[in-house]
Amino acid sequence: MGVDLKARITAIEALPPLRDVIAQHELSAQKALGQNFLLDMNITDKIVREALARDGDDWHDVHAFEIGPGPGGLTRSLLKSPAKKVHAIELDRRAVAALDGLVQAACGDLDVLQCDAMKEDLTMMADAPRVIVANLPYNIATPLLIGWLRQTRGDFNAYKSMTLMFQKEVADRMVATPDCKTYGRLSVITQWLCNVSVIYDLPPSAFTPPPKVMSAVVHFSPRELPADAPDFRAVERVTAAAFNQRRKMIRSSLKEYMPAIEALGINPQLRAENLSVQDYINISSV
Ligand code: SAH
Repeated sequence: MGVDLKARITAIEALPPLRDVIAQHELSAQKALGQNFLLDMNITDKIVREALARDGDDWHDVHAFEIGPGPGGLTRSLLKSPAKKVHAIELDRRAVAALDGLVQAACGDLDVLQCDAMKEDLTMMADAPRVIVANLPYNIATPLLIGWLRQTRGDFNAYKSMTLMFQKEVADRMVATPDCKTYGRLSVITQWLCNVSVIYDLPPSAFTPPPKVMSAVVHFSPRELPADAPDFRAVERVTAAAFNQRRKMIRSSLKEYMPAIEALGINPQLRAENLSVQDYINISSV
């Protein structure tokens, strides 16, 4: 059993500053691992606060998963939240070693696993409710999200929410609406499965070292689907066919779906970006 929350917060606040932890463990950022650290605890605290607020301020029984804790700034903020337990998954051995002090301070409330997040099924690691909160390595951020969305399609309770940092350009695509240049496969699949909102943007200067691009924190809250919802692959197939030829009219890009398109009364002269999320789901359901 872990310590109570007040004691946990006190122990974490007594830890050395992140910059000292980085220096001591020679945790120089590696580009290949997508390492852009958040060392300002005001920022990491705010990410957790916003995530918690959007989840109805109720994390008392939540298992919080963090992918890529690095030196552990966001991990500290998560441990200061009411989450029951924090599970951090980190590929870099140096970072795992650097988290030792935090593991001690958390008295059993923090598990650190050294492994590749791309290969892990988080739902096997702890009971629901689960949330994911992470400043993701940008090179694998989208495939990680797609994997979690796929799980959400199979099990609405897989994740209570996800609060994730992406490159702003990727975040923009997730929340894009029809008739926009950025509206695409990622918009349809994300918005089909989740209520999604950008919490706020962060400039490169918020990170150490600063990345080349703007970033954004995005909150995803899974939507409960009707029993006759199409399967994930069907929606992937239709959106791929449409958006891989986004300049073409759907009567050509979605030729094999024409019976469904006609039955649904969708104008075949529209282009991929003119169809709503619901149009895609309807076409995929036939
Ligand atoms: N959350 C930290 C670090 C973010 S940088 C912070 O905000 O300061 C991204 C982190 O993801 C790095 O620590 C990197 O080592 C880790 N990482 C990269 N690829 C990974 C993978 N496949 N599985 C798990 N962690 C990974």
